[in-house]
Amino acid sequence: MRTDTASISVLRDRLHRLWRGATAGILRRRRAEAVDPTELLREKVIAIRPIVRGLCGVVGSYYCLIFVSHFFYEKGIALPVLASLAGVTALICFSLLFVYTKKTESLTRLEITGLCINLLMYSNVVTYQSLHFEPAKLIYFVLLTLVYATSGASLRVVLPSSFLAISTMYILAHSAGFPVLKQHIWVGIAGIFTAFGMAGIMRATIFRSVHARVVAEKHRREAQILAHFDALTGLPNRRSFFVELEKVIEGRRKGGSFDLALIDLDGFKPINDIYGHSVGDALLIEVGHRLRACVGKDGTVARLGGDEFALILKGARSDEALRQFGALVCDNLRETYLLGGGVAANISASVGFVHSDADEMTGSQLLERADYALYYAKQNLRGAPVVFSAKHETEMRDFGLIDQTLRSSNLEREMYIVYQPQVDLATQSTVSFEALARWESEKLGAVRPDIFIRAAERSGLISDITLILLRKSLVAVKSWPSHLRVSFNLSARDLRSTRAIGRICETVLASGIDPTRIEFEVTETAMLTDFDQAVEALARLKSMGCRIALDDFGSGYSSFSYIHRLPADKIKIDRSFVTQLLKHDSAQKIIKTIIDLCGNLSLDHVIEGVETEAELKRLREVGARYIQGYYFAKPMRAEEVAGYLTKEYGTATLREAV
Ligand code: C2E
Ligand code: MG
Ligand code: MG
Repeated sequence: MRTDTASISVLRDRLHRLWRGATAGILRRRRAEAVDPTELLREKVIAIRPIVRGLCGVVGSYYCLIFVSHFFYEKGIALPVLASLAGVTALICFSLLFVYTKKTESLTRLEITGLCINLLMYSNVVTYQSLHFEPAKLIYFVLLTLVYATSGASLRVVLPSSFLAISTMYILAHSAGFPVLKQHIWVGIAGIFTAFGMAGIMRATIFRSVHARVVAEKHRREAQILAHFDALTGLPNRRSFFVELEKVIEGRRKGGSFDLALIDLDGFKPINDIYGHSVGDALLIEVGHRLRACVGKDGTVARLGGDEFALILKGARSDEALRQFGALVCDNLRETYLLGGGVAANISASVGFVHSDADEMTGSQLLERADYALYYAKQNLRGAPVVFSAKHETEMRDFGLIDQTLRSSNLEREMYIVYQPQVDLATQSTVSFEALARWESEKLGAVRPDIFIRAAERSGLISDITLILLRKSLVAVKSWPSHLRVSFNLSARDLRSTRAIGRICETVLASGIDPTRIEFEVTETAMLTDFDQAVEALARLKSMGCRIALDDFGSGYSSFSYIHRLPADKIKIDRSFVTQLLKHDSAQKIIKTIIDLCGNLSLDHVIEGVETEAELKRLREVGARYIQGYYFAKPMRAEEVAGYLTKEYGTATLREAV
């Protein structure tokens, strides 16, 4: 019994699902085939118009012929009556053809035209029959019905006309006596059936093909919209952006000018990851609205993909005006987003501008420059606009040269590491060395690390360079006393790639060095590019036993709000605070606050860039413990480390002796 109930409910479930699937399919198809009724009607009129106008032409010509023929066959009163009726019919037909229905898109006009012609044909036949009744010619009424059925604009025209014709035929046949009526009864019925059958089939065929054409046109238009507009924000997509860019470049040749901007959102990915894609989507839509409101009618806003947007601003603007506009855009995008479901999100945006310039730059050259300005904004001034300048042009060219040289050089031979000690003030001894990359290029000479590292990050060569440098550092560490650690800098790119992190882990394991002696330094900006991915990468390094230090703390966002989410062991307080230390009291207070917070969060701290005794004194006052800077030692070659340590231990021994 229970089995029966169970199988019935399974069957019911299955049927229900089948029904839902089927109805969903039908609904989907209906939705796909649903068209705008006005458009459908317009297309129907266009399809019927040639039939109705064709009828005007044919009937007009026919009655011209009849008009002439009446002069041969008619006499007496019949001649003027029939001839004038035929003449008027022909005239009205031609005026309907050449005036009333010409280019018309109105169904009513076509219906009126059809009715007019039907009535005229009808009057000609009825008048003829009333003047000299010929039962044999009653068949003309059936012919009329066929003509009405095949040419009528709508059933509203076909039905009354046909009924009028057939009933007149019956009345006339009846007046001629029962045998004539009997003869015509079935002819009339057959006529009616044929007429309506023909009318129905023809109309259905025409309307079906019209509907299919309208649906196809709708799909074509939708496909076109999809091809040119971003489905989420409704903004022009990448493809339309490039078309528009080519257009304004073409306009520039005729004296027009414009500015180009690339915009990248900062902090979008975490929102997408934390709240889900629907919230992320809502945010992107709102960003689109805000950008459109900022730009107004003066330009184009496009979504290039992901969280990247582009603007084309028509007209000439000064650098200052552009910067002000950029600040407005950044301020607008920074305002809190209320995204439904109680989600309030905050992001910022970096903007890179380039003027269209008199240099006749191509679209891709302009984009390259806007991209550089954006990159510059992201690296140095997050959440702010940067206008591409002559300084950036030189930098970019240098970057190009450095990039090419990096690719064509033997980096294994040309790159080396220098080591800068980090000293523990409590014990006056070195606890660690930061490994700093150096490149003595055979072609370019010595290249500054921040420059070649940035070039390598842009070109994607950084992961290979990181491995070369890490291997070299780990070889050096082998010869150091076992209590000394090495601090190695990672770039944002290293953190973003699972493969790169995997290779770093392999290198650490292959070196045979105790991973607890290795500390990886990452900057705040590197963390913020893709926070979750970076946290995951750091967790992998940490799971091997390596330590993590947050580099240059204070130079960017300096936000403690996310530090507890980081697997960090140490904070490196940026050199910029030390340079301000003797000038502003506030710098000392800030350093103290950071040191105290580190203490509360059980994090180590190290202060970078200490150069003088006076700075060191101030730092001691606020409880600083670990120091790195020229005061203790400049970065030194691997071969010099042993000498430095001997000196330090010697001093220590001396100190102990004293
Ligand atoms: P960083 O990691 O913040 O390194 C500290 C920088 O401060 C080093 O510059 C160091 O020489 C400098 N410095 C240390 N003490 C003092 C001081 O007392 N006064 C002054 N004026 N400067 C001091 P360096 O070697 O030019 O490196 C610059 C940046 O390049 C590094 O900043 C780091 O971000 C990057 N970098 C260096 N080596 C590597 C590397 O192997 N990989 C990666 N990804 N980045 C690296
Ligand atoms: Mg560092
Ligand atoms: Mg640093």
